[in-house]
Amino acid sequence: VNENSAVDIAVVGGGLVGAPLAIMLASLGWKVALVEKAASTEQLTPGSRGYTALSDATVQLLSAHGLWARAAEDACAIEQVHVSHKGYFGSTHIDCRDHRVDALGYVVDNSLFGTVLRSQLESRGVQLFELTHVQQADYHQDHAVLQCHRGDTVISIESKLVVAVDGVDSELRSGAGIESHTTDYDQIGVLGLVQLAQDHEHVAYERFTPSGPLALLPRPDKRASFVYCVEPDRRHELMSMSDSEFISHLQNEFGFRLGRFKHIESRVVVPLVRVEAEKQTSQRLLLLGNSLRLLHPVAGQGYNLAMRDVQSLLRQLEDTSIDPGDGEMLKQFALSREDDHKRVVGLTDFLARAFRGKASLPAHARALALLGLDRLPPLKKRFTEQSMGYV
Ligand SMILES: Cc1cc2nc3c(=O)[nH]c(=O)nc-3n(C[C@H](O)[C@H](O)[C@H](O)COP(=O)(O)OP(=O)(O)OC[C@H]3O[C@@H](n4cnc5c(N)ncnc54)[C@H](O)[C@@H]3O)c2cc1C
Repeated sequence: VNENSAVDIAVVGGGLVGAPLAIMLASLGWKVALVEKAASTEQLTPGSRGYTALSDATVQLLSAHGLWARAAEDACAIEQVHVSHKGYFGSTHIDCRDHRVDALGYVVDNSLFGTVLRSQLESRGVQLFELTHVQQADYHQDHAVLQCHRGDTVISIESKLVVAVDGVDSELRSGAGIESHTTDYDQIGVLGLVQLAQDHEHVAYERFTPSGPLALLPRPDKRASFVYCVEPDRRHELMSMSDSEFISHLQNEFGFRLGRFKHIESRVVVPLVRVEAEKQTSQRLLLLGNSLRLLHPVAGQGYNLAMRDVQSLLRQLEDTSIDPGDGEMLKQFALSREDDHKRVVGLTDFLARAFRGKASLPAHARALALLGLDRLPPLKKRFTEQSMGYV
């Protein structure tokens, strides 16, 4: 069976970046197709893809496109950030009320957040091809053609622009001959969810321990998601611990500021690497999200950076009478985003070293950057001033 479709923009990948991007482009008036190899309504296990701290700017962008209200039902506001160092007295405390904002950011479950975003694709005018895998992409002077498979059906999608948001192992990136480079930070992150005996009161905690930093982010129902960075050779030791051994270890590292840790609901290990594409565009193709750059997840910057790319792209494509895949326009777009990308990569690298005691950083800067909240505008001036006071 053959199917053909012609659209302005074909988005490949309906993940946390692709799904909102497709909806936002459609709301500007573009004819958009989204190709996703999984089922759009697939119910993932909560926590199976980790947790993300969304910055205020990301939430505002989602709200402006009517995508926040439903996602907010599962989101947990960060109202305060508390930073401490194991073995040292004193701590740093940031409170949203001091900065006249409702929250410093919001923590979402990536699986639930993704499901909410994907479920709105069709009702928001996106032509959805789910359970559909892109097999081949051909790029021409004035259009591109995606050859896709859904079971026995071959689907051909012609567009002016292909946006590859197909994740860190992007087949579209390699298919277009764009190389990627991996930087290994020689660290692993142990991530999971812990049930607390007492309420977290919307405080996010950052604790620097001799073995690495430990972050606890508030989640609904007296839970906290944790990110614990350690050297790779501790993987076996930490993962072979029973839940009760692991919880005692975590409690010992963190202390009792959040009361007693009751039990662990999940525990996974991720390698801490950075994967970067050598360029963001080629003929009729644009890379966004993890296909362009996967950052050290602990710095929690990746998603917020990708959503700033989305926001700039929307500004670039406000006028629907232009050619959305024009090579010069795409190059200008990539150029305009370079500074922000360099800044975040620099900060992430710096943090990755700081985590391992190879650099020192003022506590405020560390706290906010680690949670991916460094771009919160009302905070920025004050936070910079405070940080400087520490230097
Ligand atoms: C553990 C962890 C914690 C994180 N925490 C934070 C945080 O606190 N703050 C922050 O800002 N960022 C965080 N990030 C980064 C954030 O999660 C990513 O930026 C985000 O997931 C990137 O989304 P994406 O849409 O680019 O890719 P993905 O979410 O990976 O989506 C790619 C999609 O493409 C589909 N696909 C792939 N190949 C094809 C194909 N050939 N055809 C069709 N479909 C295809 C896949 O099925 C998938 O749905 C974290 C990341 C990790 C791993």
